[in-house]
Amino acid sequence: METEAVRARLLKRREELHTRASSARADLRHESDPLSADFAEQVTQRESDEVLGAISESAREELRQIQAALRRLDEGTYTACSVCGEPIEEGRLQAVPYTDRCRRCAEGSQPGPRRGP
Ligand SMILES: [Zn+2]
Repeated sequence: METEAVRARLLKRREELHTRASSARADLRHESDPLSADFAEQVTQRESDEVLGAISESAREELRQIQAALRRLDEGTYTACSVCGEPIEEGRLQAVPYTDRCRRCAEGSQPGPRRGP
């Protein structure tokens, strides 16, 4: 698994989604709104929520998954299925680089970890 290539791909995709979110947000908000310094700070703190609020649910979900995938890359658990712990098929990771589940678990009806009997 070429994890650096995967990371580059995920970062690029995240950038695309952020760009899309920023332009969507600019459409929603009047750029000329006067903001006090304090309010601007609060806005900065809430920036990410606001950005995510401006894009579609599916794009938001994809961003979440990309963030999680990047974290798993850092932790070295990227190729392990988060549900059953088995390695995720490489072909599947190439098709869906932000997935955290092997094919079998992804096709299972119920999401979320299942542990024990
Ligand atoms: Zn699995």
